[in-house]
Formats: sequence, structure tokens, C-alpha cells
Amino acid sequence: MLQQAKKNLEEAIKNGIKGTNRECSYYPCHSHLQDCTFCYCPFYSCGDRMLGEFKISSKGKKVWSCMNCNWIHTSDVVKKVIEDLRKYNEIDEKVLREIFRRVRYD
Ligand code: SF4
Repeated sequence: MLQQAKKNLEEAIKNGIKGTNRECSYYPCHSHLQDCTFCYCPFYSCGDRMLGEFKISSKGKKVWSCMNCNWIHTSDVVKKVIEDLRKYNEIDEKVLREIFRRVRYD
């Protein structure tokens, strides 16, 4: 997991929902009134083609693009993810995959 994503996860577990961060120079990177708690997404790269897609980078590499995904920036999703994260003492990739599956599909 990216270092910044890990830091955001720890902050979200500790402080809860951050909401919209209008002071960010990239705001709005996905949509207006987006929730910025999980910037960067802890589930990257989820591989869910309903949310993102593979693209070819300028270097010719296949990369997962989240450009059009707003799922992790919606309030109800942020709330559910934080609730789920708080059930675990240790967060690893396996736990994140479980949380993604539960919040996304259950
Ligand atoms: S497509 Fe959405 S949920 Fe999937 S990794 Fe990207 S930002 Fe996260």
C-alpha cells in the first residue's frame, strides 16, 4: 500500500470522517462535495471495472485508472469503511480486500 494511503487510513480510524477538503489544491479531483477522508484510496488497485479501468501509460505500461471513480468519496461508503476498519487490530492487504468486498457488494 502507498505510504500516503496508509497514513490516511490511520487518520481515518483515529479521527473519523474528514469530509470535503476545499483547501486542497486538487479539489475537486473527482466531484464537487466529495468526501476527502480516503485520499488516496486504500483499495487501489481494486480491479472493479464498474469503478475504474486499465489504461496504457505514456511509458506503455498497463495501469489501473481511478479517474472516474467517486465511490470511495461518497459519505455512506466512507462511513461504512471506517466502521469496518475499526473492527480490526491489524490492517493488512487481506483485511482491506475483505472490507472492499463487504462494503462494495454486501
Ligand atoms: S477504482 Fe475507486 S475503489 Fe477502485 S481503487 Fe480506484 S478509487 Fe479505489
